[in-house]
Amino acid sequence: MNAARRKKGAKRKGPSPAMQQFLRAKERYPEALLFFRMGDFYELFYDDAVRASELLDIALTTRGKGPVGEAIPMAGVPHHAAAGYVSKLLQKGQTVAICEQMADPKTVKGVVPREVVRVVTPGLCLEEDALDARTDNYLVAVAVAEGEGALGLAALELSTGELRTCALPDAAALLAEIARLDPREVLVPEGEAGEAVAATLRPALERATSRPGPLPEGADASDALLTRILGDEARGPALADPLPRRAAVRALAYAEASQPGASLELRRVGRYDPADQLVLDEAAVRHLELVRTLRGERRGSLLHLLDLTKTSMGARALRRRLLAPLTDVAAIRRRHDAVEALVADAALRRELRERLAGVADLERLATRAALGVATPRDLGAVRDSLAAARELREVLGAAAAASTDDTLAALVPAAGLELATLEEALQGALVESPPVSARDGGIVREGVDTDLDELRTLSSKSKDVVLELEQRERRRTGIPSLKVKFSRVFGYTLEVTRAHLDRVPSEYVRKQTIANGERYVTEELAELQEKILGADERSKRLEQRLFEDLRGIVGRGAEALRRVAAALAAVDVHAALAEVAQRHGYVRPTVDEGLLLELVEARHPIVEQLAAAGTFVPNDVRLAAGTGDDEGEGEAPQLMVITGPNMAGKSTAMRQTALAVILAQAGAFVPAQAAHVGVVDRLYTRVGASDDLGGGQSTFMVEMKETASIVRGATRRSLVILDEIGRGTSTYDGLAIAWAVAEHLHDVIGCRTMFATHYHELCELAATRPGVANVNVAAREYEGDVVFLHKLVPGGSSRSYGVAVARLAGLPPVVLARARALLGDLEGGQMLPSGAPARMRPVDARGQAQLELFAGPAPEPEPSEVHKTLAGLDPERMTPLEALQALARLKQLL
Ligand code: ATP
Repeated sequence: MNAARRKKGAKRKGPSPAMQQFLRAKERYPEALLFFRMGDFYELFYDDAVRASELLDIALTTRGKGPVGEAIPMAGVPHHAAAGYVSKLLQKGQTVAICEQMADPKTVKGVVPREVVRVVTPGLCLEEDALDARTDNYLVAVAVAEGEGALGLAALELSTGELRTCALPDAAALLAEIARLDPREVLVPEGEAGEAVAATLRPALERATSRPGPLPEGADASDALLTRILGDEARGPALADPLPRRAAVRALAYAEASQPGASLELRRVGRYDPADQLVLDEAAVRHLELVRTLRGERRGSLLHLLDLTKTSMGARALRRRLLAPLTDVAAIRRRHDAVEALVADAALRRELRERLAGVADLERLATRAALGVATPRDLGAVRDSLAAARELREVLGAAAAASTDDTLAALVPAAGLELATLEEALQGALVESPPVSARDGGIVREGVDTDLDELRTLSSKSKDVVLELEQRERRRTGIPSLKVKFSRVFGYTLEVTRAHLDRVPSEYVRKQTIANGERYVTEELAELQEKILGADERSKRLEQRLFEDLRGIVGRGAEALRRVAAALAAVDVHAALAEVAQRHGYVRPTVDEGLLLELVEARHPIVEQLAAAGTFVPNDVRLAAGTGDDEGEGEAPQLMVITGPNMAGKSTAMRQTALAVILAQAGAFVPAQAAHVGVVDRLYTRVGASDDLGGGQSTFMVEMKETASIVRGATRRSLVILDEIGRGTSTYDGLAIAWAVAEHLHDVIGCRTMFATHYHELCELAATRPGVANVNVAAREYEGDVVFLHKLVPGGSSRSYGVAVARLAGLPPVVLARARALLGDLEGGQMLPSGAPARMRPVDARGQAQLELFAGPAPEPEPSEVHKTLAGLDPERMTPLEALQALARLKQLL
């Protein structure tokens, strides 16, 4: 039969019916790797197979022949392990189309119908394996206005069912917003405009893939799409402006195409204004290592230190807060109130955190339920989380009732009939620990459904009957080892060992030969099997239906679940920040509308953890915005020029100041004895040197671009941290640029500024400008070594101790000795006309040739006669005749 089929197949000209299905699906999703379900495997064919085998390190085989007789490359993964492979592919920026069998192959004649049910992309996935529980997974779409710089942005978080839009003035603002959202996937417009956007975004797209995202043709199609997915929200304020609207359409068109099998229902749509948040540019997010270190690791970042949250929703909320601190003083104070209340009551904090530990990711579970992909285990997690939330509400409610203000009361998650009903339904229906799969039963409790109970009794009773039959047959045949066996292929059989085969009754029908005997069926056993398997099958199907009903109920309650999730996340964040504050001794900052920034005994949150206990040296910082003549707050300077040796702690002092502002405005306490933060609107950092060679930009170019964006963007309310500028070019160019920038920040912008530099000449600024103060980081030289005191002290520093630091770094003594001698020349003013140290003069015949190479330009030649004559002329006092005569003489001289 098989051979006959094969023969028939060989004669066929075109591809097999399954391959035709594959080719049709592939035509619709050319970009994605197509996972084509065949029995227990997802198979990939042609180029997909080659690509997948490379990316996943799986075997590449072949299957059948293509149109010109070539072998078709094939690679496959078992369906039960598919999630892991999909997640690996997503991490590599690939997209995967899942093509399922739409019917049970056993019940279908001919080829099984197959359809692509979902396209999973890095920015659009719901798979637990592929999502980072503690990080939002954004898909961002961008729209560009023709001819202008304005942009629209839409950020879609499919796993939590959230869509947010904003309008942005220019590419720099877009870059900052992308750095903050940290998306996994970015959709840009098609064509040149989109390519330009993608190029701008490259520095912020470490984790993300960007691709062109087409728009539906015509305005009507766009409107229809928005209404289909968003309902009434489509006409809401979030989508009123054309650019954010277009961005939203781009995101949703892509998302809808990725879910051909389900309807996307997003009901949480919002518009936000990036100007309501402390603007952190991309460089600040990166340099300050807010959520990951410069090496790309989470450990060592500020977030890693702060993240003592118990739930993934809390972790994500904390991350969002850190990347988008507030500027609204009242809102910031409300957050501080909450943290303070939980710092004050350690017992309450502990109790809340215990309850939070029992709360699963309700936000993402709600979406999974609404989209119909939640498993029985997921529903069990919803049930348990609702119970934990109810307990937390009781604990917090009691504490709030006993408290004199309403800080705690504001945190209590709202109760609701909907949630209570939901919890009750889940409690009533689900078994204690439901399985992952909905297909094999074991989901629904006894007593929930009478039909189900009946089927179960039938099936378990029949099993007793089987045992009875076994006993009876043993007695009847006199075969003591006779056993009833069950196998998937042959069903129930009676097993008889070789030694007793002669006693097998004639009505036994042989079914299977095994190594040491035979297996038989009888009419009675076959009937019994029919009953048992029938009951099992029906009870599983019934359970699956009951489960789907339950999932529907949870899905319809998604909004209520998300609301309680958000309230729990907020409690979690406040409790975590209170825990951090208490563990590491942070203080509540005073935040107001003033322009002062004052930190007393401030520490760097990360460096202090890395330093041996008690060795970190705290520092004070006082800065007040002004415009030179108007000094604002008391005696505080507006611009600090910080000098001092390399490695002394200049960067640390500046970064800790920036971090204190971010923490304070994010609603956290800060590592200091006391802190006063006049709200900052934008925080700029220009730190260190980095090449963008891939982007065709040198270190100096990157540095100047960052400086330019600061000078253009900073306002009087901003905080600017400059750690060296002008180092990537010649000394004079660099000094001149640094000087001009410092003057501009001080005289024109008036923002609070910390400026660390090795150009000690900048200390002169303080002499002419009352708003400039010099501070240096103290160090002492002791027997040729520097000893760092890490303390900011008033006054400029005249030395960098660079040679001493070089010695610490292990530069060989011979090089150090020479450097010291040359430094002596330079500091003593003994220089060649070129500015090189006098000691560079030749020392011996062999050295001479070499040194001349380095000796700089040749000395100026003597001026010529023409030169001297010209210099002696004064055209203003000459008559025309005298001028003509002078000209004639010059010509002669030449
Ligand atoms: P460079 O001029 O070379 O950039 P720097 O003055 O900016 O140097 P930092 O990078 O701030 O120096 O600090 C160097 C090291 O000194 C830090 O990594 C840290 O280990 C230590 N350090 C800095 N500040 C302190 C402090 N206040 N207390 C204790 N250790 C500190």
